[in-house]
Amino acid sequence: MKVLIAGGAGYIGSHCVKIMSEKGYDVVVLDNLSTGHRAAVKEKLYVGDIRDRAFLDDLFAREKVDAVIHFCAKSLVGFSMKEPLDYFHNNVYGTLVLLQAMEKAGVKKIVFSSSAAVYGDHEKMPITEDYPTNPTSTYGETKLMMEKMMKWAEIAHGFKYASLRYFNVAGADPDGTIGEDHRPETHLIPIVLQAALGKREFVEVYGNDYPTPDGTCIRDYIHVVDLIDAHIRALEYLMEGGESEIFNLGSQDGYSVLEIIEAAREVTGIDIKQRIAPRRPGDPAKLVASSEKIERVLGWKPLFGIKEIIRDAWRFHKTHPNGFDS
Ligand code: UDP
Repeated sequence: MKVLIAGGAGYIGSHCVKIMSEKGYDVVVLDNLSTGHRAAVKEKLYVGDIRDRAFLDDLFAREKVDAVIHFCAKSLVGFSMKEPLDYFHNNVYGTLVLLQAMEKAGVKKIVFSSSAAVYGDHEKMPITEDYPTNPTSTYGETKLMMEKMMKWAEIAHGFKYASLRYFNVAGADPDGTIGEDHRPETHLIPIVLQAALGKREFVEVYGNDYPTPDGTCIRDYIHVVDLIDAHIRALEYLMEGGESEIFNLGSQDGYSVLEIIEAAREVTGIDIKQRIAPRRPGDPAKLVASSEKIERVLGWKPLFGIKEIIRDAWRFHKTHPNGFDS
């Protein structure tokens, strides 16, 4: 089976490329390298943008792919609030052009990297797929609009899609060759590990007055290897004739910011310093997803816990202190 991995030079996409090619899939990669890294991809890479229809038509003419896994998106909630139109242009318009090109090429199966940001604020955790969607950020809104396009494209053109909604992805491939390298880095686990490496003096803890047991925000962390396993299962499900579905991905366990820092101290053996800082605007106190549906339908269960997530991320950070420039 030949699969186009769009956004395959990014953090999650590059893990998808590596793991799928190791499993024997024929993969082709597309990326505009705006945030992705050429060094993260060993397989065939087409450098271009999904908003460029001529580029996509040419790619689909050259490569007879059976399906697409779509990771192309700008994904920072804070930036999405400052540059909403840029997010709509990149994420929503980009997906529109991709779907148009797929339709013309007769490629009708797509696994889509969505986000639990489509749900917005909810009191009751864990979040299940039937919760109302009410995004509180432009980023979440773009992901919801991307899902909606697929829904209507299914009705008119017979697309089949699997949309995976997830929160906090971390960790790295256990062989340590690829990992998370965002610039600027905003995510907690890489920031904590940068502090362990001495690249930051301390970790700023954004708020300790939330209504949680230790006052810091609770999030649901998934190992990137588990996440890619879910994408592969979703792809196989569609290829076997499965109906379009939306799945949440979570570990069922949430960890607070302080618990993550403490776990990182244990894994690295380094006394990582922390300082309490003001809350970051837009951060809900607790986000935990239910994975009951994907476990029932696709048999997916996360295999890695928080210690393994940090251990594998640490292996990449230690060997790549300057990311892919190391
Ligand atoms: N966080 C923090 N300090 C940092 C980065 C993040 O306290 O330097 C907190 C953030 O407020 C949130 C959690 O860590 O509660 C996870 O944040 P991240 O940006 O990794 O992911 P998000 O939950 O925003 O998708």
